[in-house]
Amino acid sequence: MKKDYLLTPGPTPVPPEALLSMAMPIIHHRTPEFMEIFKEVSEGLKYIFQTEADVLVFTSSGTGAMEAAVSNLLSPADKVITIEGGKFGERWTEICRAYKINAVPIEVKWGTAVDPKDIELKLKGDNEIQAVFTTLCETSTGVQTDIKAIADITKRYNAVLVVDAISGLGAVDIKADEWGVDCVVAGSQKGLMIPPGLAFVSLSKKAWEKVEKSKFPRYYFDFKATKKALEKTDTPFTPAISLVIALRTTLRMMRQEGLDVIFTRHKKLAGATRAAMKAMGLELFAPTAPSDCVTAVKVPSSLDGEKLVKLMRDKYGVAIAGGQAEMKGKIFRIAHMGFIKETDILTAINILGMALNEMGYSCETALGVKASIEELSKK
Ligand SMILES: *Cc1c(COP(=O)(O)O)cnc(C)c1O
Repeated sequence: MKKDYLLTPGPTPVPPEALLSMAMPIIHHRTPEFMEIFKEVSEGLKYIFQTEADVLVFTSSGTGAMEAAVSNLLSPADKVITIEGGKFGERWTEICRAYKINAVPIEVKWGTAVDPKDIELKLKGDNEIQAVFTTLCETSTGVQTDIKAIADITKRYNAVLVVDAISGLGAVDIKADEWGVDCVVAGSQKGLMIPPGLAFVSLSKKAWEKVEKSKFPRYYFDFKATKKALEKTDTPFTPAISLVIALRTTLRMMRQEGLDVIFTRHKKLAGATRAAMKAMGLELFAPTAPSDCVTAVKVPSSLDGEKLVKLMRDKYGVAIAGGQAEMKGKIFRIAHMGFIKETDILTAINILGMALNEMGYSCETALGVKASIEELSKK
């Protein structure tokens, strides 16, 4: 008998209502029935992105929309800044370089957040910089970036601010319009609580001006063609119909809960997870700028982190994530993003404690549980 708990930073659990809505017979997309669904989804996305602008929908994983942002906003040999503090920040650099864009990375120590002043320094010195690429929640390190502070800077320059909010949107606050985030990129399998397969992009007026000037060839991921279709509540190609239907369900749930309540819930679960780790004698990997989506924790030096993750998953059905790239085996990550409640977190803390003790690392699970309950009980 198997019972699984998914606490990975994407994919995240899908609520039963959304799963059931995908089980309905497939409908055709060029029909009034689908148009009505797509219209509701488009409106719901504006609410989540906190924007008045159209949110473009693509059938791909999140990275597809990251690449689309690069190919639609820029031109060959453009100069841009990328913020590299983890695997996903590096992805921006890699995509830009694949397009022969002159990407100048700001290297940030893994586990810490970029200092917005370092971005300003670069922008001040070079008006040719066309874009700043950063990450809302650097999922590989559990760091949350101060997007508002960065937007306050980019606003005053020629560069557009492009944020990978694939992990974070619908879980932590990011106000596209109010803060002046020019391009927000998101995916379906994290805070939005549906399976992987949809990607989203919002664009400011300043970003659309860059799109008009962009000289890269493109076809499937074309912002202008997608917007033109969206204005008629349509998509240029066959959308992932079942995923759009599932998204209508989760967007309704999110509206009902309300963004502020959602953000508070994530803060609380994150706070409880961090408190538990510390109470169990474990060290946080990103103590100065911890993300409310995922908590990264150092693996005690006597243990193999990969084995810990495997033990929790295979013996107890609790899936957390290990470290990526240079942090492989050295950290583990517990996600508390999307369809996650107190029950999930308390389960993860208990099973983590059991697994650690089983591997010969003695820790007081009860202290972790106590500390987390204290956080969860706070008004
Ligand atoms: C998950 C994630 C991605 C990758 O998205 P895919 O859907 O796998 O393409 C990119 N950036 C961040 C911050 C993520 O958490």
